[in-house]
Amino acid sequence: MQIKTEQIVREPNASSAQLRSQGLLFVLSAPSGTGKDSVIQELKAQGLDFHVVASVTTRPMRPGESEGNPYHFISKEQFEEMIEQDELLEHALVHGNWYGQPLQPIRDNLRVGRDVLLKIDVQGAATVRRKLPGAIFIFLVPGSVEELVIRLTARQTETEEERERRLNDARVELAQQDQYDYVIVNRQNQLKEAAECLRAIMRAEHCRTYPRLVTL
Ligand code: 5GP
Repeated sequence: MQIKTEQIVREPNASSAQLRSQGLLFVLSAPSGTGKDSVIQELKAQGLDFHVVASVTTRPMRPGESEGNPYHFISKEQFEEMIEQDELLEHALVHGNWYGQPLQPIRDNLRVGRDVLLKIDVQGAATVRRKLPGAIFIFLVPGSVEELVIRLTARQTETEEERERRLNDARVELAQQDQYDYVIVNRQNQLKEAAECLRAIMRAEHCRTYPRLVTL
């Protein structure tokens, strides 16, 4: 399955109304513990309709997680087979585990005019930028590295060693924020402000005369 890349710039034959019938592809990256799931949940609670793709991963399931929530938990062999069959838009090794975005749900949702949001790390975003430059790239940052340490420690889902690894990865990731179209700050106790920024970006992108579209 091949991915055809197309960036709509000023297409003389396509009316802006025609271009609006397809969903937009948003890519959201954030260092671990920045609160991207909370921001997304806030927008969903406000009734905003967009599809968040469940990644496939080789990471073991954590307590409270289940198949499809938040990921499809698969074996290394199944993961490799998906790569071989071109079923993933991108894949990356993140904090020692493999993660990837299945193409089909992205394609299906965009086709019916529904916006799609990919929650992926900076490596995955770089791949999507190369393949689909019409996607819209958003980076969520914490108020400070200190806030990140506090959040990662408080959630107690990682061992101390894993937490250290995630903090080191976070520093590397934060250095790449200038590769993104938008940067949103999610300060401690100011979730609504961060969600409002994301909502505003999503709305504004729909108001472009010629929306940024992708072809899959
Ligand atoms: P966690 O295991 O804590 O849920 O996620 C760890 C990291 O993996 C997060 O930074 C998240 O953005 C990233 N991630 C989750 N799914 C994907 C994916 O499909 N592709 C890529 N490249 N990164 C992902």
